[in-house]
Amino acid sequence: AKATNRGRMQVFEPWMLGRHTLLLSLQTDLQDAARLEQLTLQYQPVVSLTDDTVRGVEALVRWQHPEHGQISPGEFIALAEGTGMIREIDLWVLRRSCRAMLPLVQAGRLAKLSVNFSPRHFDQPGLPEQIAAILSETGFPHHALVVEITEGVFMRRHRLANVMLRELLRQGVGVAVDDFGTGYSSLSYVQRLPLSDIKVDRSFVAAAAQYPGIIRSIVDLALGLDMTVVAEGVETPEQLEVVRALGCDYAQGYLLSRPLLGPDLIAWLDARDAA
Ligand code: C2E
Ligand code: CA
Ligand code: CA
Ligand code: CA
Repeated sequence: AKATNRGRMQVFEPWMLGRHTLLLSLQTDLQDAARLEQLTLQYQPVVSLTDDTVRGVEALVRWQHPEHGQISPGEFIALAEGTGMIREIDLWVLRRSCRAMLPLVQAGRLAKLSVNFSPRHFDQPGLPEQIAAILSETGFPHHALVVEITEGVFMRRHRLANVMLRELLRQGVGVAVDDFGTGYSSLSYVQRLPLSDIKVDRSFVAAAAQYPGIIRSIVDLALGLDMTVVAEGVETPEQLEVVRALGCDYAQGYLLSRPLLGPDLIAWLDARDAA
C-alpha cells in the first residue's frame, strides 16, 4: 500500500494512522508555509566541464516546519502536487530566486538560474504569461532563466505542453529536461521541440564508468540537436572525469558543491575567484 499523489491511501491499515494524520496536517500547514516564511531556497552551482567556470545555479526549495523540522522536497512536493499548491510554490520560488540572483547575474558572476516546474503547471494554460510577469516585475533577463521540467510533462496533455514550451522558448527562456532517461516516454519529443538542456539523471552518472553507453548516446543525441548536456549528482572525482570524457558540457553535484544558502553561495563564488 502506498500514498497516491493525491495524498489518499489506497489501502488503509491501522499502523498508517500516524503517517496519514501527519500527511493531512502537513497539507494544511503547507498552505501557510510560504506566507509564514517557512520556505527557503538553496542554490546548487553548475560548473563547466571544459573550462571550470561557473555557469549558474539551480534553485531548490526547503521547508522548515515549526514542529516537524526540515521536510525534504521529495516528500512535500508530492503533497503540494496533490492539492495543486505546487503551482503557487513554484512561482514563489521563481520570484524569490530571480530577486536573489539578479545582482549576481548583473555582475556577470552567473549566466543561468534554473528553476523546477512541476508537470501540474501544464494541465492548464497560463504558465508562460505567469513567468513573463515575474521576469518583468523582478527585471530578471529572460535569457538567464532555465525552466526545468521532467519527461512526465510530455505524457500528460502533451499538445498543451508543447504550445506552452514553445512560447517560453520564443521568449528566450531556456527549457531543460530534468532526470533525463528515467521517464518511460520515447525520445521523440526532444527532436520536435528546440529544448536547450538535457540533465542526465544521477543514476546514469553513478553507473557511467561501468555503462558509459547511455551517456554516450545522450551526448550524441544532444550534439545533433544543439542541446547542452548537464551531468547531475556528480559525487566523486572519477565520475567527474568520466562525464567529462564522455562529452557532457556541465556538471552539478556534491563533489562540486552541495546546495547553498544565498550568502554561502556568494562566499563559495568568492573563494573560487580567489583560488
Ligand atoms: P532534482 O530537480 O533532480 O534536483 C536535484 C536533487 O539532487 C536535489 O535534491 C539535490 O540536492 C540533489 N543532489 C545534488 N547533487 C547531488 C549529489 O551529488 N548526490 C546526491 N545523492 N544528490 C544530489 P532535493 O533538493 O532534495 O530535491 C529533490 C527534488 O525535489 C528535485 O530533484 C526536484 O524534482 C524537486 N524540487 C526541489 N525544489 C523544487 C521546486 O522548487 N519546485 C518543484 N516543482 N520541484 C522541486
Ligand atoms: Ca531539477
Ligand atoms: Ca534532476
Ligand atoms: Ca530528481
